[in-house]
Amino acid sequence: MMPFSFRVTHTDGAARRGLMTTAHGEVETPAFMPVGTQGAVKGITHRDLESVGAQILLCNTYHLYLRPGDELIARRGGLHRFIGWSKPILTDSGGYQVFSLAARRTIAEEGAHFQSHLDGSRHLLTPERATDIQANLGSDIAMVLDECLAHPSDAATARASMERTLRWARRGRDRFLRLRERVSDTSDTSDTSDTPDTVVTNAGQAQFGIVQGSVFPDLRDESAQRTVEIGFEAYAIGGLSVGEPIDLMYEMVARTTPCLPSSAPRYLMGTGTPEDLVESVARGIDLFDCVLPTRNARNGQLFTSQGRLNIKNARYAEDDRPPDPECTCYTCRTCSRAYLRHLFAAGEMNAATLNTLHNLHFYLDTLRRIRESLLFGRFESFRLLFHESLSRQPRDP
Ligand SMILES: [Zn+2]
Repeated sequence: MMPFSFRVTHTDGAARRGLMTTAHGEVETPAFMPVGTQGAVKGITHRDLESVGAQILLCNTYHLYLRPGDELIARRGGLHRFIGWSKPILTDSGGYQVFSLAARRTIAEEGAHFQSHLDGSRHLLTPERATDIQANLGSDIAMVLDECLAHPSDAATARASMERTLRWARRGRDRFLRLRERVSDTSDTSDTSDTPDTVVTNAGQAQFGIVQGSVFPDLRDESAQRTVEIGFEAYAIGGLSVGEPIDLMYEMVARTTPCLPSSAPRYLMGTGTPEDLVESVARGIDLFDCVLPTRNARNGQLFTSQGRLNIKNARYAEDDRPPDPECTCYTCRTCSRAYLRHLFAAGEMNAATLNTLHNLHFYLDTLRRIRESLLFGRFESFRLLFHESLSRQPRDP
């Protein structure tokens, strides 16, 4: 089994290019992870995902735990086999969906009590359970359970939440290490009564810790330092992109990355726009995920080299140009704006598919160009040109 590793190969200022190795292969960073909520990226097949160059997929633990269930997936040999995706997979902890989606939730020291948004059934997600569920799923990267704080929060609330996240991180890590020991020692006959139904379907799974601390610089510093002390394979920055001003988010990212080991990948969770990706790479981020390209595609919004384009706009009704003249994706090679607008207006399924293909291509291609610029020490000039290009054209409202 290939152990998890990461190597920085090029740097330009705080920006880095690197190679992350997981149990299911390598990921060139900086990288963007399309979101495959239910084990699929909405609107497109895995074949399409590979064609646009996706290297790693994010799947949501909350959804898969509720349906079809992590134990069913473990019996099917784990998530890779179940969904037919042989490249790396990262799973989140389920916490964010509990905080944002569950019907009713109360947070206690032991974990998050919640009711399923599907059938109202009651559940308790603890740091240990989040670890066990992800062991059953067998993702290559598991995330530790953290408390997701709403914005804005006062300093006292943010501190209490950060402290709880640290206690949960300790518990989640302990459980992870215990499961790993059980796997590495096959003659281990020790008591498994606390993890009776957990099957480790991916012995090479890594676990990432999460830095919290809201928008308080001192809390971010402390959270980073104490999370690193617990010790994870890598670190994520959570609790941003939750409604704070964009400059504040950039400031928190710039503040946090120097507190994290340079030898481990840094993952900015749930962000963001194409501009955010470029600006966060400039501040030392290596991994991203966001529903923006896929969700906006289904709503008819296309990200292009010249800004955003709302395909439902009447002015595209007889526009024969591709959505983005600079794009080489299947959609831009074969479809006019007029056709895409018609498909969207008609409620045709292909509208979502074609728009999603383009948006993911645009995101993944942006990351590809970032990596290339880092290879040649030209990231700063890429960054300038990227922003210039986006602001060159009048944007759709
Ligand atoms: Zn395109």
